[in-house]
Amino acid sequence: MVSVEEAKEIILSHTPSLSSEMVPLFDAPGRVLSRDIISGVNIPAVDNSAMDGYAIVASDTEGASRERPVRLAVCGEIKAGHAVTLPDVAPGRAVRIMTGAPVPHGADSVAQFEDTAEGDGHVLIFRGFPPGENIRRAGEDLRKGDIALSKGVRLGSAEMGLLASLNSTFVPVSRRPEVAILSTGDEIVDLGAELKNGQIRNSNAYTLYSEIVKYGGIPRYMGIAPDNREATTAILEEAMESDVVVTTGGVSMGRYDFVSDALAGLGVGIMIDTIRMKPGKPCVFGRRGKTLFFGLPGNPVSTMVSFLQFVRPALLRMTGALRIDKPLVRATLTEEIRKKTGRTHFIRGVFSLKNGLFAVSSTGPQGSGILRSMSDANCLIIIPEDVGVVRAGEAVLVQLIEHEEV
Ligand code: AMP
Ligand code: MG
Repeated sequence: MVSVEEAKEIILSHTPSLSSEMVPLFDAPGRVLSRDIISGVNIPAVDNSAMDGYAIVASDTEGASRERPVRLAVCGEIKAGHAVTLPDVAPGRAVRIMTGAPVPHGADSVAQFEDTAEGDGHVLIFRGFPPGENIRRAGEDLRKGDIALSKGVRLGSAEMGLLASLNSTFVPVSRRPEVAILSTGDEIVDLGAELKNGQIRNSNAYTLYSEIVKYGGIPRYMGIAPDNREATTAILEEAMESDVVVTTGGVSMGRYDFVSDALAGLGVGIMIDTIRMKPGKPCVFGRRGKTLFFGLPGNPVSTMVSFLQFVRPALLRMTGALRIDKPLVRATLTEEIRKKTGRTHFIRGVFSLKNGLFAVSSTGPQGSGILRSMSDANCLIIIPEDVGVVRAGEAVLVQLIEHEEV
């Protein structure tokens, strides 16, 4: 039996890295970069105007005001995106310029339209413009040779835009791990036929399917194994071709819990069999070659909590993701929580922000079969092994399970 922290360490130390592949940019959101992306160009490529206005020589405008404007001759216009021979700007002269257009030679500032008035070939400038005003410098976003994005970064919207700016039509990302899902139990039935006496609908396969997709995996549903060693072994053998295998149920101390037996026969090295946590105490972790095996407990809440604590970080680590931890924040507990010492409890909670501070309460009944408690929750309240009571008004650690990893 190991602690939650020990279990996570053991799992991550056995987690292999996946190979990489090139994917079209539109397929890249959510994927993890497998290499640093070096900028091959300056962005922006050339000095350009940040405003619609006039490219000018800054020193011409010294001391200018509404009452005593400076008068310059307008000697041309530059539109963004239109290749023209740029007119030079010399003292006493101005060139009309649009946002994004390259700043012409000789100009060192841009006077925006709002501070000017134009008529009969001349423009009046109503204030002084220091050098560099309203000019976006070449390379101010990215310099040629800079690391634009680091290996291990998960691609979000800003990263997509950066890659597009760099003309990256294909990007190197880690392969998505294939994750086999296997439910176990004679009482478990798939969707369709009406439930007979004592049968239970297979909800775990669906929560796991959703979690696997959410954390970048490709789910492979293997159905339901009945409670006998031969059938479980046969399906597991096939499942072990995936990068990761996740089963639910069949790992407790019951007479019909065959998953561990089957694993031993398949040559899976078992590193963990129980974890000091609630829910989720029976939880098997093992490995054969590069395939990771997770035998999660069968109760629906235990399945989800164990997935979040152990399978989720392993999937992210496989892809090389730099951020694999859900944020932990301190929150004020609004009710008293009592528990036995000796195990870490993950209590389904609802946090809210009051004047910028976190407050948290439990979702109510915490039975490990009450899946609605997960649906109602937006966080897990973590009560450490050695703590027996936390009173209302005291601070607790809260794991924000709906927030991205940090
Ligand atoms: P087990 O660890 O196999 O004894 O499973 C514990 C309990 O979890 C079972 O009695 C079921 O109530 C529940 N359970 C197991 N597998 C599933 C499943 N796939 N979907 C929903 N509930 C399940
Ligand atoms: Mg069972």
